[in-house]
Amino acid sequence: MKFLLNSTVIEIIQGDITQSEVACIVNAANTSLLGGGGVDGAIHRAGGKQILDECIRIRNAQGNCPTGEAVITTGGKLKAKYVIHTVGPVWNDGKNNEREKLSNCYRNTLNLAVEKGIKSIAFPNISTGIYGYPKDKAAEVALKTVVEFVEKNETIERIQFVCFDRENYDIYLGGG
Ligand code: ADP
Repeated sequence: MKFLLNSTVIEIIQGDITQSEVACIVNAANTSLLGGGGVDGAIHRAGGKQILDECIRIRNAQGNCPTGEAVITTGGKLKAKYVIHTVGPVWNDGKNNEREKLSNCYRNTLNLAVEKGIKSIAFPNISTGIYGYPKDKAAEVALKTVVEFVEKNETIERIQFVCFDRENYDIYLGGG
């Protein structure tokens, strides 16, 4: 599904984000930036050692990446030129600022992308795997944050939400 918001094309697709043909893909990383399971593992496997080497350099320079923040590396062997690594919140009971932290992930990632002149970007469904954020609630935060951003900032031409599982895909098609 595809729609136009101001001058930005928003795409909702089901698939594997490592195959996305965009300038930048987003990784749902953990604070160590040293790789993990889920989409993180898939991105490091597909992109190769160069991504991890840069993550290690960033971590050595600035320490762990706090929840809600974002850092950028090369895309290594991926089709995407860049990977932005952002750390989603672990869902606890919803009373630990999970919503604000998840929203920060999308907003900080988009700000960093704009700073780097990136025109197309693909997001996974951050925090909805191992971190246990309820999928419907996470989709609502993701869509709302991105829509609010696009309403103020028209520099990104294309934003993809890449849903890996059918459940997330159906939730996104329903508007979160
Ligand atoms: P988190 O720790 O932030 O929950 P996960 O990687 O466990 O991160 O899950 C985040 C989302 O990424 C989940 O919805 C999961 O289904 C999805 N995912 C896993 N592999 C891929 C992939 N190759 N492409 C896109 N999304 C993926």
